[in-house]
Amino acid sequence: MLTKSQKNGPATQLDPTPALHVETAVLHGSYRCDPATLATTVPIYLSNAYAFESIEHASDVFDLRREGRTYSRLMNPTTDIFEQRVAALEGGIAALATSSGQAAIMLAILNIAAAGDNIVSSAHLYGGTINLLAGTFQRLGIETRFVDPSDPERFREASDHRTRCWFAEALPNPKLSPFPVVEVGAIAHELGIPLIIDNTMTPLITRPLELGAHVTLHSTSKYICGHGTTIGGIIVDGGTFDWAAYSERFPLMTSPDISHGNIRWLDAARDLPGPYGSSPYLLKMRNTLMRDFGPCPSPFASFLCIQGLETLTLRMPRHCSNARQLAEYLKAHTSVLDVTYPTFGGTVERHRAEQNMGDHGGPMIVFEIAGGIDAGRRFIERLQLVYHVSNIGDARTLATHPASTTHASVPREARLAAGVRDGTIRISVGLEHIEDIVADIGQALDRA
Ligand code: PLP
Repeated sequence: MLTKSQKNGPATQLDPTPALHVETAVLHGSYRCDPATLATTVPIYLSNAYAFESIEHASDVFDLRREGRTYSRLMNPTTDIFEQRVAALEGGIAALATSSGQAAIMLAILNIAAAGDNIVSSAHLYGGTINLLAGTFQRLGIETRFVDPSDPERFREASDHRTRCWFAEALPNPKLSPFPVVEVGAIAHELGIPLIIDNTMTPLITRPLELGAHVTLHSTSKYICGHGTTIGGIIVDGGTFDWAAYSERFPLMTSPDISHGNIRWLDAARDLPGPYGSSPYLLKMRNTLMRDFGPCPSPFASFLCIQGLETLTLRMPRHCSNARQLAEYLKAHTSVLDVTYPTFGGTVERHRAEQNMGDHGGPMIVFEIAGGIDAGRRFIERLQLVYHVSNIGDARTLATHPASTTHASVPREARLAAGVRDGTIRISVGLEHIEDIVADIGQALDRA
């Protein structure tokens, strides 16, 4: 299983076959120890540039005739390991890390859509994504058609010959109604439109690429980093979309690209060995949009995300089991009007929850407190253990009032469509002992 890359020395890579289980791949994938120092932790390569062996080597690498590194805006050895491990986690062929989740969404869509094109998106989204799609993309000439995702056929109905992709969150923040990845993925496959799934809320427990999505992405600022210590994003290509078969719809992928020496991305990827060339979609993204806009992660951010990944397989089940127990407690509490938790939905929702997340119900809860907006404010102010912050996916339990924070700049109608009422409280359930979480929430509810 080990590959000896140094004569008589320790192995510096694992043999890629047999394929490792996810729990093992996030600890050992693509790196075992540093060949120069034998250090077992992935080093932080704080180097902007990489020495070329010769003039020919430099031009081969720049022209993508040969795998190699040019400059850390485009690639970095620490970030490479992070990308390969997340690709393994998601069952994809390659990944591209970005400086934030927002940057990941921006690049994933701009890579295939231009002015005059449209995309179809679920209306159940994080507020920042609604701003990006309905505001900034609109100004760039890319129209977003928002649809109610509870009926998968809405995606088909809203699409035309200028539709470049479909977009949704696997478990929408903060709507929490599981997206029908299987059903929408099947229609996307039929029409030849790539389905891009934001899997920020459910890494590991939902595997969108296996369910039928073509691309998945994350804000790694959340559960992948896991400790609220760094902002980041990542895009993973499942390698299942046949760009050549739909070349009329995807001229940006299939026609010569004048911004990169008239390169044809499908040909270039086919001829380039190694991880950068394994996905034409990401090869193009790295060498055009990352090159031009530059939202790259720092190697230190990638290092922190690598640390987070190492314990993700332990953390996600614990986040979910704490959330389920807290949701049961809230459901029985007299001061709570209703609790939104994926496994509490109707038959269709419960089926989609099981399809997407198996036995897990997800790591977040939304509830409506009796007494409206004032009681909601008092509840937040009385929390002692639970933090009042507008974030999710921390090891600690976090509470927020989305109408006054994450969704404050979203128009009221779009905010309601995204599941945010005036008195809605969102809890990102952490890893503390469940009795301590329940005790703090209980005392805050009693005094709200
Ligand atoms: N996608 C989802 C589902 C999110 O919740 C967030 C942020 O909360 C983002 C994307 C944006 O990520 P970032 O804050 O890393 O830019």
